[in-house]
Amino acid sequence: MILWLLLLLAAAVENAAAAPVQVVVDPPAVPVGGLAVVHAEGADVSGTFEGKPLAFFSTAGGSTALIGIDLDHATGRFPLSVSSSHGGRFETVVEVLAKEFAEERLTVPKSFTEPSPKMLRRIEREQQLLAALWSQSPPRRYWRGEFERPAEGAPGSPFGLRRFFNGEPRSPHAGIDFRAPEGAAVHAANRGRVALADDLFFTGQTVVIDHGAGLFTLYVHLSKLETRRGAMVEKGAEIGRVGATGRATGPHLHFAVRVGDARIDPQALLERKLD
Ligand code: ZN
Repeated sequence: MILWLLLLLAAAVENAAAAPVQVVVDPPAVPVGGLAVVHAEGADVSGTFEGKPLAFFSTAGGSTALIGIDLDHATGRFPLSVSSSHGGRFETVVEVLAKEFAEERLTVPKSFTEPSPKMLRRIEREQQLLAALWSQSPPRRYWRGEFERPAEGAPGSPFGLRRFFNGEPRSPHAGIDFRAPEGAAVHAANRGRVALADDLFFTGQTVVIDHGAGLFTLYVHLSKLETRRGAMVEKGAEIGRVGATGRATGPHLHFAVRVGDARIDPQALLERKLD
């Protein structure tokens, strides 16, 4: 009789251990350049999207991770998996939807479309420097509350434009522009650590802020840098001035967002509350 009870108890414990993790993916279908939030019950969870680890951070009542869908991501259904330390699992798919983007044709100095071998080496070095940043974010968040627009000014070119420079196809427009005058203040969209504050070939004087949990904001074409690498900045802190450095056709702020290495629409971040 006692043995029978013990066996029953063991079976109950095993069932409890195998209970699925409660997970919500919001939204479950995301356009290219979009953002989804994964919320799981419990503090001790891990997971993957397309086989790559999710960066969970703790929030009220559980754990949250962000999924960014790169501007050039394929459409279709992609696997998401979450596990708890108690052995519970949750499997689903995130649907990536197509989105149409307009074309834009710009004229810039020839040095930007036909760079010299020396400049090509610089470009390659800077691309490696940037690529290395996206995997260095800590597994916790620095940001607090909503993200704020980083500059005054009317919206300029929207996200995703298929771009031609001097008639040559180049990378799509992976950010949004604010038409602010030269010298206007540029503010940190939220709290974070400055991962880069430097002069780069294409983006000119550039600030990259790491907000933790793989979330980054970029401030591009500045006339002046007012922060430095390693500094912790608060939301709204002045980090530079609007300019036209790098491959720019005139003064404006180019503002971009990364979730890991995925280039997403900054509007998707400005429009939603992440905690
Ligand atoms: Zn831009």
